[in-house]
Amino acid sequence: MKTTQKVLSIDATTGFYRLRRYPVGDYFGPVDLGVHLDGQRSCLNFGTGLFAGSIFPGSNRLVFTGFSPNWRGFYVSSMGGAGLVFDNLGINLVSLVGKAARPSILYLNREHGEEVEVEVEPVDLDRIWYGGGETGSLPRSGRWGAYALLDHALARFGGRYSADHRAFAAGPAALDTDFAGLLSAPLKDGRASDIDTWAGRGGFGSKMLQDHGIAAVIYGGTVAEEDFRDRRVADSWFEEKYQQKLAVKDFEATTKYRFDPKFETGGTFGVNYAQMGGRLIAFNYRTLSWTEEERKSLHARLVAGHYLKQFNEETIATKSQATCGEPCAAVCKKYRGEFKKDYEPYQALGPLVGIFDQRAAELVNRASDAAGFDAISLGGLLAWLMDLLDRGELSPEDLGVTRIPRWTDGPGQAAFDATADSAHNAELVMELIGSILDKRGILDLSEGPRKWARRIRKERGTRILDRFVYTANGRKGWMVPNQYWTPGVLAPMAIMGKYYMHYGTEFLPPRELGKACAERLEKELRMDNAGLCRFHRAWGEEMMAEAISSVYGLKEEYLSAVSVAASRINSRNAAVYWESAADLELVSSFLRRRRDVEGDTNPELAKWIAAFEADPAEAALSYWFEMRKGIDENLRDFL
Ligand code: SF4
Repeated sequence: MKTTQKVLSIDATTGFYRLRRYPVGDYFGPVDLGVHLDGQRSCLNFGTGLFAGSIFPGSNRLVFTGFSPNWRGFYVSSMGGAGLVFDNLGINLVSLVGKAARPSILYLNREHGEEVEVEVEPVDLDRIWYGGGETGSLPRSGRWGAYALLDHALARFGGRYSADHRAFAAGPAALDTDFAGLLSAPLKDGRASDIDTWAGRGGFGSKMLQDHGIAAVIYGGTVAEEDFRDRRVADSWFEEKYQQKLAVKDFEATTKYRFDPKFETGGTFGVNYAQMGGRLIAFNYRTLSWTEEERKSLHARLVAGHYLKQFNEETIATKSQATCGEPCAAVCKKYRGEFKKDYEPYQALGPLVGIFDQRAAELVNRASDAAGFDAISLGGLLAWLMDLLDRGELSPEDLGVTRIPRWTDGPGQAAFDATADSAHNAELVMELIGSILDKRGILDLSEGPRKWARRIRKERGTRILDRFVYTANGRKGWMVPNQYWTPGVLAPMAIMGKYYMHYGTEFLPPRELGKACAERLEKELRMDNAGLCRFHRAWGEEMMAEAISSVYGLKEEYLSAVSVAASRINSRNAAVYWESAADLELVSSFLRRRRDVEGDTNPELAKWIAAFEADPAEAALSYWFEMRKGIDENLRDFL
């Protein structure tokens, strides 16, 4: 049982480190500790929850916190299974400060109870990322970029470990953009497997490299702590609450991620697309203005009839599934060969950019991952650029590419060829990825798309941001929303881009929606602060507090610590009112569809639809502020 939170603070400038201890009770996990540390100095923190190494399935996430370079605010991102090996370091959290003089790999090892060995070793990134080839060139296959760096770190330092170890790494996108993530994978025979795991959102790859000079981290050790492993005791908690043993409850709760017989598919990709129908988002959200029949027809032909069909045949039927590295019955990682498939990246770099074919989606998702981008942000951003190309608001020369997209409108969709047109759009995506990395044409996203778009407006008088669906934070912060057609994804929350908001598809008056977002933040933090994977939320939201109650007798203290962390996060809420016309369209089209397609007769809904019809700008402003009121009145600091 862990009684103190051990934080190893490492100065990347010198490699010096020091260990600090915080009693459990003062802080409970990587999020409330992260909020505390972030308030003290600029740092990137990564660590595990109190139940890492325990028998709870999903309890081994490696949780990253710090100031996000693209969101421009405090952020939380986490990586599946990567906490299991981290736990063997015998510490709870690493807090990285300072900056290495040259790009480096951080090596952490703890053998036989000795102190953690800490080394900061320089690395030649261009040689590793591009295999000695031309800097900035975009290979179409192979393990380049973040994959190559991951392999390099494992090959160079792996021999020094006598036990399990793991690594995470950034790709070239971390050097020149603000939205690069961090790639890891469980090991097989000492080498990285094909089961990628990501701390994707929030730009922590960019932060680690640009702010701290660290491009990869390798870690492992032999410390065996007394983690909670008493299955009999856990079963008794679960039987009291659910009349089911832990394993049975968990198996039932994770059906969607494994295989759902209702839809004859599994994983987020399979189940989300199987039940999407007329809620399909494609071609930079243009489908939101199509008729329901047009969207359904697109879904039936290109998604159910092709994109999803391929996935079911190639991945589900062959049972190509794995875990993120920890023992877990959900086996949520669905793959084909080296391509691991989740809904959000294969949606954002899929239908959103006009790709409905697995081969085309594999090409661009792999390129995005190797470059080290957060694939959801990249997909949203490229869909916007492709929309601008298609409308002629920017030229191929402006963006350093040779073609424009082959997209379609509702009535013309029958002519869209699932394979050929997807392949064409994928080639354009590949060119655009190269353009972002090489800053071709007028493209320069080093300070984010809002700053770049402002410059274009100043120089050309064109307001290109109106076609970009994103949430804005502070002066430069931005985030591509989660891929659901519902106003919650554009809520004015202090952290956006992950599930710290209500993304249900029912209509809630905006003030209630704000309240629901605030409640979801607290529930998600209960899991993130315990390092628990949210795919186990059907029991995790309440059982983490119960487990802390049983083991530490500190249930109320835990819930209170989470509430305080939530209100502290919200106290820095710098959400900016929707800047883009496309954001307003997402909300107003959702409201209309609720009434016209779902048959929702709620008078509040009718009132908001009428308001949007009469004066869209005024209605949207009121709607946004109503949400914000609902958020703030439920996330007050009560101390
Ligand atoms: S559901 Fe998936 S990501 Fe979560 S713990 Fe299980 S295998 Fe890992």
